[in-house]
Amino acid sequence: MSYVKIDKNLCVGCGACVDACPVGALFMEGDKVEVNDKCNLCGSCVGVCPVNALSIPREAKKVDLSDWKGVWVITEHDGKKPVTVTFELLGEASKLASKRDTYVGAVLLGNNVAFMADELFSYGADRVFLCESPVLEHYRTEPYSEVIVEMVKHFKPEIILSGATTQGRDLAGSVATKLETGLTADCTGLEICPETGNLLQTRPAFGGNIMATILCPNTRPQMSTVRPKVFPVPPKTDKKGDIVNFSFDFSKLNIRTEVLEYLPFEEKISLADAEIIVSGGRGLGKPENFEILKELADTLGAALGASRAAVDAGWISYEHQVGQTGKTVRPKIYIACGISGSVQHMAGMKHSDIIIAINKDPEAPIFKISNYGIVGDLNVIVPLLTKELKKHLGS
Ligand SMILES: Cc1cc2nc3c(=O)[nH]c(=O)nc-3n(C[C@H](O)[C@H](O)[C@H](O)COP(=O)(O)OP(=O)(O)OC[C@H]3O[C@@H](n4cnc5c(N)ncnc54)[C@H](O)[C@@H]3O)c2cc1C
Repeated sequence: MSYVKIDKNLCVGCGACVDACPVGALFMEGDKVEVNDKCNLCGSCVGVCPVNALSIPREAKKVDLSDWKGVWVITEHDGKKPVTVTFELLGEASKLASKRDTYVGAVLLGNNVAFMADELFSYGADRVFLCESPVLEHYRTEPYSEVIVEMVKHFKPEIILSGATTQGRDLAGSVATKLETGLTADCTGLEICPETGNLLQTRPAFGGNIMATILCPNTRPQMSTVRPKVFPVPPKTDKKGDIVNFSFDFSKLNIRTEVLEYLPFEEKISLADAEIIVSGGRGLGKPENFEILKELADTLGAALGASRAAVDAGWISYEHQVGQTGKTVRPKIYIACGISGSVQHMAGMKHSDIIIAINKDPEAPIFKISNYGIVGDLNVIVPLLTKELKKHLGS
């Protein structure tokens, strides 16, 4: 049996851990703390020690890495078709798989969803791992994660990618915890070391000020979530593949949630899918000025975006926020009005095809990544632009 580890050189005998232990496993002997066999490694004592003298012994898990093959993508869908991020990830999975000379797998769970397999093949999947059941009709963490965990134990994929969506984040966290493997959230870049198979998972860290590359060298699978629009959708092909049916005994599960009714969320502002986005920042000066942007957006058939400063000021709701803690977008045209161009904002829109910035400060960082820049007051420029566009577009 192992118990909490005590570094006697660090221990100052304050007794804080003795008070924190819920099972009476810690006691003082002289001026140092000792542990008895009641310790269940709950860890309650570790956080209270002011000198970090306590730690939970963990043996580094080691697996035979050569057993693990294939790059998997978890399909997210609404029962009718996969969501776009699934195709984006299949494109990226194909690149990674070709460097490792392995296959691309798509995990497809649901009820009567096999018809989606063809589309998954056409975006790059070689095999679709399919599990169908009425239990899987609507997404629930427990049955979905249990099926995937069992699939993983059986087929041993080297890498699993999922969208950093509400569902993808929930599912990936649960699967990684059950498999005791590493998960890197919100990756913005994925590369692979062809020799070791280690996935180089790049993501912003420390508030977006640095990019960190994270490895999971000892365990498999290596798991990453990636936000929608970080990678482009690959070209569709007429590729075909194999469906691998996977059966699962749901009677052994004690599922604690029941879906009473499913109310689909109708997104009015589909920022993620918009081809043109008109975005406003603190430079608007007041919430009413979003009306000027709205008129431009309506003229162009564009969605309305915002910087966090505008959202935090309460001028517009969070669903409109673009950036590191908002949405990642990849429109054909992104028009930034009164937005300075912080790293956190640019993290969410820098992959737009064409960026147009309107800012009264010629030194504003947004101009560094803009294809077109207009230096001036947005209150003057935006209405002029709208007027001209209306003339040309006839609206
Ligand atoms: C952990 C973390 C996460 C974050 N996540 C996000 C995120 O997801 N998205 C995000 O946007 N920010 C995010 N931020 C905040 C970010 O750091 C910036 O504070 C924010 O992006 C600034 O918004 P802004 O450009 O609208 O405002 P400002 O930086 O204040 O810029 C306003 C701009 O408007 C211009 N301007 C002023 N008046 C006019 C005018 N009349 N006409 C034209 N131009 C004018 C100014 O010259 C200035 O460049 C995050 C910050 C942290 C620490």
